[in-house]
Order: sequence, then structure tokens, then C-alpha cells
Amino acid sequence: MDEVFYKNGLRFSCQKCGKCCRIPNGIVYLTEKDIKRIAEFFDLSGEEVFSRFTHREHKYRVLNEFSNGDCIFFREGKGCIIYSARPEQCRTFPFWRQNLRSQIAWDSAAAECPGMNSGKLYSFEEIEKILSNGKDT
Ligand code: SF4
Ligand code: SF4
Repeated sequence: MDEVFYKNGLRFSCQKCGKCCRIPNGIVYLTEKDIKRIAEFFDLSGEEVFSRFTHREHKYRVLNEFSNGDCIFFREGKGCIIYSARPEQCRTFPFWRQNLRSQIAWDSAAAECPGMNSGKLYSFEEIEKILSNGKDT
């Protein structure tokens, strides 16, 4: 395997600035596990989560957003109101394949996210685990 640029790990701690929750047409894809987690968080059924907070985008189930592009769960001054139950896509950021393709890809994402390259050091092994299994916390 070629040597990867993150062999010594990468730093990331979310600053909860909300920038990534406020991207017009930014799509948050949902897994079955995400729906279950959100349903448990609000004590709702999966069907209620579908109808209140999601819609279909082609064959995918995705989170709704407000007319200004903010995620349905983002609140000014509070950030994500379902942080402990946020979807897999949100919990695994920024350790997404497209950001880990190269140092350039990582730096380009970091230019938009103040939490990248500071805070907690994730080891190579931890990053690989997130890539293959997602993230629990
Ligand atoms: S842009 Fe980065 S620091 Fe800001 S909320 Fe998103 S992940 Fe956290
Ligand atoms: S679910 Fe939470 S973390 Fe994910 S985009 Fe919405 S507000 Fe942001």
C-alpha cells in the first residue's frame, strides 16, 4: 500500500461553528441506523421521523432543510440540537474518503472547517476504523 499522508494521524475537534450545517443544498444522507437513533432521541416512531424531518432525494432518504439552507436540526446559538444522535455522515466528518484522498483534498476541506488540524489527534488506525465502521461518538 502506498504511504498515506495521514500515517501520523490527523487532528480534529469540532468547534461547533455550524458552518457545515448551513450549506444551501448540502445533503445529509440517512441510514437506517440514523433514523433509529433520531427516533429514539425524540421518542418517535421511524415513520414520524420520516414525515417530520426527511424527504426522498431520488432513491435516498435525506434530512430536510429550512428555506435558507440550514439543516432542520441547526439552531443559531445552539448548533446541532440532536448532536448526540446526529447522522453518520455528520459524525464521521471530516474523515470522509474524499477528504482523505490526498493532503490537498484534506487542506481544501480544512479551509472551510476551523476544527480541522487542531484539537484531538486521531491516529492512522482510528481514521481507518472510522472509514470502515463509522463513528460511535
Ligand atoms: S465546520 Fe467544522 S468546526 Fe464547524 S461545525 Fe462543522 S465540523 Fe464543526
Ligand atoms: S444533523 Fe446536526 S450536525 Fe448534521 S448537519 Fe444537521 S445540524 Fe449539522
